[in-house]
Amino acid sequence: MRTLEEARSEMLAVIDPLGTAALPLVDAAGRVLAVDAAAVIDLPRFDNSAMDGYAVRAAEAGTGAKLQCIGEVPAGSEFDGELGDGQCARIFTGSPLPAGANAVVMQEDTRVDGSTVEITDGVKPFEHVRLRGEDVKAGECIGQAGMKLQAGQLQLLGAAGVAEVTVFRRPVIGVLATGDELCEPGTELGAGGIYESNRLALAALIRDAGAEPRVFPLVPDTMEATVDALKGAFAECDAVVTSGGVSVGEHDYVKSAFEQLGGSLEFWRVKIKPGKPFVFGRLGGKPLFGVPGNPVSAMVTFLVLVRPAILQMQGAADLDLPSHPGVLADPFANRGDRRHFMRVHADAAGNVYAAGLQASHAVGPLGKANGLVDVPPETSLAEGAPVKVLRFS
Ligand code: AMP
Ligand code: MG
Repeated sequence: MRTLEEARSEMLAVIDPLGTAALPLVDAAGRVLAVDAAAVIDLPRFDNSAMDGYAVRAAEAGTGAKLQCIGEVPAGSEFDGELGDGQCARIFTGSPLPAGANAVVMQEDTRVDGSTVEITDGVKPFEHVRLRGEDVKAGECIGQAGMKLQAGQLQLLGAAGVAEVTVFRRPVIGVLATGDELCEPGTELGAGGIYESNRLALAALIRDAGAEPRVFPLVPDTMEATVDALKGAFAECDAVVTSGGVSVGEHDYVKSAFEQLGGSLEFWRVKIKPGKPFVFGRLGGKPLFGVPGNPVSAMVTFLVLVRPAILQMQGAADLDLPSHPGVLADPFANRGDRRHFMRVHADAAGNVYAAGLQASHAVGPLGKANGLVDVPPETSLAEGAPVKVLRFS
């Protein structure tokens, strides 16, 4: 049986980013840059005021000085001319500094009488001035290939004059759920029926990972239905995630149906809890990720195995779940021989609570869990133990 690291690196070794496309920046939120992006302009683009006040020559603007205001520089304009001896100009935050000025006196430090401006608190050269290029220089690399474009990156690229970026294509990920017991929400449950929920969670996690989920109808536990469902999903999608049907029971058809379709099973079973029966295969270069049906197993295997693969399909440089240190508020014990990804709730202070019953069928804890703690085999962690929290929300 593979370790998690072996399974993960074996998958990542055969998964490549999909193609690239040029996109207007306005459509690029959440996408991954495929080509480095450079600043088109300096930021700030020109020396400008950090305050509403008066642009002055600092040498003349000591406390008590009286200056003549000769005009104003509203945002989006430029001062026509140059400040002369004893002159100042009304200026606003972000407006270009007039030629000849080298400082700004803030409005609160002046007394104004007609066009005479008395300085009540003098300034030094460059006080309240933002200098051209002090933030970003034109030509500077402001986005590396592999970087996911989120709010901050979009601010930077947009401000620096980048109108279009080259990003990786968003993979379409098929989502199938197998099981004769599964019923659609809102329908009446027959004997032994349960409401299907893995597709909901998997589609949400796929979207969080930057890809586009495509959810397919429920798949009954027959060879024929499983082959048909896989065939349809692989025809439409860049990869397929199935849930259920990967254990050892005689009603588990995912592996055999996939092979019947011509897919190659690369591995089955990973030494983790929950999620041991995870399957990875390939059909025509497209990955199959077979997660177990138990809802907690489905989510955990998605987070630690499928998510990095989907990010790599998008060319993302960072494949790991966000994480932070925390301190256990409850004792945790893993008596098994597989590392256990326990479901936890981490609060803002870093206290880490067990989210509830740590069993692979138990969905109760999923309502409040926001992270996982990887507890090694045969290990007890006492309350107060430092841990790393892998966050998924
Ligand atoms: P399986 O992996 O098919 O053996 O399923 C393991 C357990 O997970 C069984 O109790 C199933 O009823 C349950 N299960 C399987 N698929 C789903 C699903 N899509 N939604 C909720 N529970 C499921
Ligand atoms: Mg099943």
